[in-house]
Amino acid sequence: MSIYDADNESILASSDPGLLMSLILSAERVRLAHLGDEVYMRGLIEFSNLCRCDCYYCGLRSSNRAIRRYHLGMAEILAKCQEAERRGIYSIALQSGEISTEKEVNFIAGLVSTIREFSLRNGSPGLGITLSCGELSYSGYQKLFEAGAHRYLLRIETSDRELFQSIHPPEQLFERRLECLDMLKDIGYQVGTGIMIGLPGQSYRQLAMDLEFFARRDIDMLGMGPYIPHPQTPLARSSQPGISDSYTTTLKMLALARLKMPEINMVVSTALQTINKEGLIMGVRAGGNVIMPILTPEEHREDYTLYTDKHYKSLAQLEREIGLAGYRLAFNKWGDPRHYYTRMGLSYPETPAAPAEIRTASQFHT
Ligand code: SF4
Repeated sequence: MSIYDADNESILASSDPGLLMSLILSAERVRLAHLGDEVYMRGLIEFSNLCRCDCYYCGLRSSNRAIRRYHLGMAEILAKCQEAERRGIYSIALQSGEISTEKEVNFIAGLVSTIREFSLRNGSPGLGITLSCGELSYSGYQKLFEAGAHRYLLRIETSDRELFQSIHPPEQLFERRLECLDMLKDIGYQVGTGIMIGLPGQSYRQLAMDLEFFARRDIDMLGMGPYIPHPQTPLARSSQPGISDSYTTTLKMLALARLKMPEINMVVSTALQTINKEGLIMGVRAGGNVIMPILTPEEHREDYTLYTDKHYKSLAQLEREIGLAGYRLAFNKWGDPRHYYTRMGLSYPETPAAPAEIRTASQFHT
């Protein structure tokens, strides 16, 4: 069986606006049939911009001396979690640069278990916890899972080995990223990955191959956003040609992914919302069913810039735009990906699941 889908490549390369709209309408039908009209929320807390890596595209890279480094303390993060709970955001995403020391892993594990404990009081189901802290060891991932995290996002950025290596220093290996994705699945996490669209040198063929990669890996969650150059990075100076329209191509990628993987959770990235003011509305219509309201304390937002000109929207604004798209925000819900429960052979919990149930789910993993 070929892993390369030529139709998707030609759809991505087409400049026919009619094709884009019919693709979005098809994705919308599939999404409504499988997932309904809810858009789940992940309150995003970017708790540290310290990073040991030097990815050529990212403003947080270790060589960038122009940003102020910060690491939030436990109390500051807990205050943000309480704020999320008060606002009906029942899932949070804890994101940071990559620091894989035992001390940092222990800090995150302590943080996760504390969040679970405080949010479980009074018999409430507690906050769902997604982590996005980069490449760790198997035992590190395991420790965080046992502490109560149940989703993990680790972007592959591109599934093309050569392109991956061209945007990372030689010591950051494509194979290592794949190993980490395997480990996360093996441990029992709901696993998410994602890519950037419009990288210098990236082709429509590679993007079509990315879709095959996601399906082959049987991922539960997907994040795809347009590449936005950050001026303090080497990749911003690249003169390599790429695809012509990263906004439209991202919408097509979302729609094609929704058609291919009807039950996964798919985020409408902040980058998509940044490059076009219609990005949220169109991203939701193209199949996106997750948004990440940013809860990072305002005084640190400028220091967490993977790319520049990141747009921040209030919850009220997000709700209004999602309403304009014909969808509704899912308050007081975890919003786990249905795909995870299907691949585990479990029934989907309509109300947030207790962590014990999530951990039990891992026993079904083969
Ligand atoms: S992409 Fe992630 S791992 Fe790479 S430099 Fe940025 S924060 Fe660090």
